[in-house]
Amino acid sequence: MGKSSKDKRDLYYRKAKEQGFRARSAFKLLQLDEQFHFLDNVTRVVDLCAAPGSWSQVLSRRLFEGDTEDNASKRIVAVDLQPMFPIDNVTTIQADITHPKTLNKIMDLFEGEKADFVCSDGAPDVTGLHDLDEYVQQQLILSALQLTTCLLREGGVFVAKIFRGRDIDMLYSQLSYLFERVVCAKPRSSRGTSLESFVVCIGYKPPQNWKPCLDVNMSVEDFFQGCEIGRLSLSDKLPDYKEEPRSIAEFISCGGLDSFDSDATYHDVPADSTALDPVQPPTNPPYKRALELKRKGMFTRTI
Ligand code: SAM
Repeated sequence: MGKSSKDKRDLYYRKAKEQGFRARSAFKLLQLDEQFHFLDNVTRVVDLCAAPGSWSQVLSRRLFEGDTEDNASKRIVAVDLQPMFPIDNVTTIQADITHPKTLNKIMDLFEGEKADFVCSDGAPDVTGLHDLDEYVQQQLILSALQLTTCLLREGGVFVAKIFRGRDIDMLYSQLSYLFERVVCAKPRSSRGTSLESFVVCIGYKPPQNWKPCLDVNMSVEDFFQGCEIGRLSLSDKLPDYKEEPRSIAEFISCGGLDSFDSDATYHDVPADSTALDPVQPPTNPPYKRALELKRKGMFTRTI
């Protein structure tokens, strides 16, 4: 599919380029913020799994909208496995969010202060094996949540991408132990045909006497010991079985009714509108080496 037909097929893709965003995902964060206003009056924010950086661009534009005195105290830290091209007012770290050293790097940048807002749009490379993909995605959310519990101030907000699979209720109930309100939100720019949604967790309230502490040798279960969100271990006496009420999170669809439908094809893009180039080409795409080899006629596959 050519750039120009994709511009019509996906208006968010075109709008992102028109507005200088590196990816269409920018609109997801904008529409979530339009609904929840979590970016009003924040000073320190963390963008986990941030490349190519459209969420960081939204954060930078929202936090540094006006030339105010308190701009000097504002900090945005973006973390990704991939290198990122610089973004105004954003400190980028190339690191793995599942590694405890990443937490130290972020804490150093905040000079011991806590964050007001942490978001994660993380997605692992998909294998096509749905159960495996869902499991790896859940682990990525748990890693983001672990980092968040160490970084976020009480009352702060955590937003993360989820896929609403079979076991998503468990995540909602785990998050409910840590936040006052947990909402599952679907922005209009997220395709209706996709299982993708976002958990918006408002009002961080860690249990009293529980102090999160990341350690490379600690399992997720050990990490959450004492805050009720771990699982039973096999040696625990199982309680008598009774049907637990399902933990169903509030569901909110966000983005005004006048915003574009991400599943629609728009044919009324002006005829003279030329296809726009990407705002920022990928830094180090996995297909780069393959393209180089193909150009040199050296791309052969042994069967
Ligand atoms: N929010 C981004 C934006 O608006 O430009 C898009 C994020 S993209 C959908 C998902 C990102 O998650 C990828 O760039 C990938 O490298 C990153 N990622 C996946 N696993 C990660 C990990 N363990 N640590 C850091 N980043 C990770």
